[in-house]
Amino acid sequence: MNTLFNNTLVDTAEHQPLLRDSVGKLAARYGRRYFQEVTKAKGKPVALWNELGKAGFLGVHVPEAHGGSGAGLADYQIVVEEVAAQGCPILSLVINSIVVPIIDQHGTEAMKRDWLPGLADGSRRLAFAITEPDAGTNTHKITTTARRTAGGWTLKGTKYWTSALDEADAVMVVARGETTDAKGRAALSLFIVPADAPGISRTPIETALHVPETQFMVFFDDVSLPAEALIGVEGQGLKQVFAGLNPERVCAAAINNGIARFALERAAIYARERKVFDVPIGAHQGIAHPLAKAYAAVQQARLMTARAAQLSDLGSQEAGEAANLAKFAAADASLEALDQAIQVHGGNGLAIEYGLADLWFVARLHKTAPVSREMILNFVAQHSLGLPKSY
Ligand SMILES: Cc1cc2nc3c(=O)[nH]c(=O)nc-3n(C[C@H](O)[C@H](O)[C@H](O)COP(=O)(O)OP(=O)(O)OC[C@H]3O[C@@H](n4cnc5c(N)ncnc54)[C@H](O)[C@@H]3O)c2cc1C
Repeated sequence: MNTLFNNTLVDTAEHQPLLRDSVGKLAARYGRRYFQEVTKAKGKPVALWNELGKAGFLGVHVPEAHGGSGAGLADYQIVVEEVAAQGCPILSLVINSIVVPIIDQHGTEAMKRDWLPGLADGSRRLAFAITEPDAGTNTHKITTTARRTAGGWTLKGTKYWTSALDEADAVMVVARGETTDAKGRAALSLFIVPADAPGISRTPIETALHVPETQFMVFFDDVSLPAEALIGVEGQGLKQVFAGLNPERVCAAAINNGIARFALERAAIYARERKVFDVPIGAHQGIAHPLAKAYAAVQQARLMTARAAQLSDLGSQEAGEAANLAKFAAADASLEALDQAIQVHGGNGLAIEYGLADLWFVARLHKTAPVSREMILNFVAQHSLGLPKSY
């Protein structure tokens, strides 16, 4: 168990130190080497996932009535961070943070009963598909279309970068309706689509990430859906999806905060032990100061992440800005921490054995996804600084 980081600065509730400790101890029994080996073997961290589910950690943000502990995102982001801080950055934990609040806030009672208990104990999984090859960040331009039929809907279109579809029972899909408004924008709706529904096919996308999750291009070729597949209200999908997008940003930040902690803990140990010119390398300010600076940035990112989660749980209007700032800060802070940790390790920083270099691209991912740093800066410029919309 690593303990370097001061959690008192970032925790916002009395029970959180115990939660951190319990999750951290569970994940530490698996640790970085386990995660590397599973990933190398193209497997999945099933044992770790199942144990997290059995212990109730996957459902800390799921309401008690549906099998969780009802504590919210403030606790869930701690789970995500602690697992990553043991060298296990599980992207599927971030997907869970999107789909749970969307179903909880907008699903029917039947849909909640169907999905939430399984998402809480880890026995069921949902992937999430909004991104499309041609629309990119501009969600208004998505072309995956849901057409009304006598019995429900027919879905047609293509998504890409859908993570972990091979591990999921179903995928939550953002689709457009058939009609558009005066600006050519179609109203969006959300659907739950079984991963093995007739008409779905998928192609894996090869990436540089060393993670167990595979990303897919997904084709929906006239997939028939029953009326109950619709989440919430037809045409309200854009509004509804935000119940999940802010938590997703917070949990992306939490993963990076965990990666940064893992890297800095390893770097501090190495800098204390490694001697090149008689004294430990950490005695040189050229080594110590960049690590201290990285620590400061990581603590600031963790604080922003905890605050964003708290605001999200309170249903605050400010949760959007806070979630964006948290993800922005955590992406930069973790890359600085990781880069410095690699540097401190000399040549060993590039060796897989030390568990750092192969974290680079999963940390780097969150500069681009789930929302790019440019789109965050666009948001801040427009909404926080009152500048004209630039796009
Ligand atoms: C490993 C991985 C996993 C992913 N998992 C999922 C998933 O599970 N489900 C899912 O739906 N998606 C997923 N994504 C997709 C991810 O959310 C998108 O890649 C991301 O939102 C960026 O969209 P894009 O790739 O289409 O980039 P584009 O929208 O094409 O943008 C390209 C570049 O242009 C910039 N840009 C665009 N518009 C502007 C503007 N107005 N001003 C300034 N700059 C601009 C962007 O910031 C970016 O740098 C995943 C992506 C990756 C890499």
